[in-house]
Amino acid sequence: CGIVGAHTRGGSVVASLIQGLKTLEYRGYDSAGVGVVHGGQIEVRKRAGRLAELEGALASDPLPGAPIGIGHTRWATHGEPTDQNAHPHVDPDGRLALVHNGVIENYLELRRELMAEGAVFLSETDTEVLAHLIGRQLAQGDTPLAALQASLARVEGYYAIALLVNGAEPQLLCARHGPPLCVGMSADGAWLGSDVLALLPHTREIQYLEDGDVAELAVDGIKIVDGRGRAVERPVRTIEWNA
Ligand code: GLU
Repeated sequence: CGIVGAHTRGGSVVASLIQGLKTLEYRGYDSAGVGVVHGGQIEVRKRAGRLAELEGALASDPLPGAPIGIGHTRWATHGEPTDQNAHPHVDPDGRLALVHNGVIENYLELRRELMAEGAVFLSETDTEVLAHLIGRQLAQGDTPLAALQASLARVEGYYAIALLVNGAEPQLLCARHGPPLCVGMSADGAWLGSDVLALLPHTREIQYLEDGDVAELAVDGIKIVDGRGRAVERPVRTIEWNA
């Protein structure tokens, strides 16, 4: 339902991600979660219920400070609102974490295919198949961008996605087909959100992704590729109004 993400030069993004999710609360949700990469590991905290539940979980078991991360408020479509079904979802080898708005219509077919290859699923969501598909591509040596593009090519349905990729240099990507997604740069780095409200505390210079777009968010810039794999520029709009 709500997506946030940040790739900054330093410090910790966790508080900013929670703050961003709070700006999206008005849309309604049943669960919430955040994920970061720290010390070569993906770390996730997620809870069914209000953001206060997630904040309680973070207070008793804090995430390490990390300059890159993603967050989500979920409105369940596939699978009950439980801790396990909350996003982010991870792949079995800890290569990535992802959050998703929308519906993957052919998830059952993909899930069966992956299970036949030995995949074990931790949730009942449609989203988790995408975590496995991307993980499989990364394991074959694909770049994060290529892994995301190849996996999305297999998916039917609607999505806004933020993808956190583990590695020597952790990466943040996002993709859109249907639900809205916008990105923007500040002096601190790159930000993404399903609603401009989540970006306004950091920047007023916003690019809206178009259907089919995939973006790579680095601390010094955002690269956008369209559905045909061509580098594209999306107009930078300056938001004049105050939330
Ligand atoms: N279909 C996904 C799920 O049920 C995402 C729902 C949403 O848009 O929040 O987990």
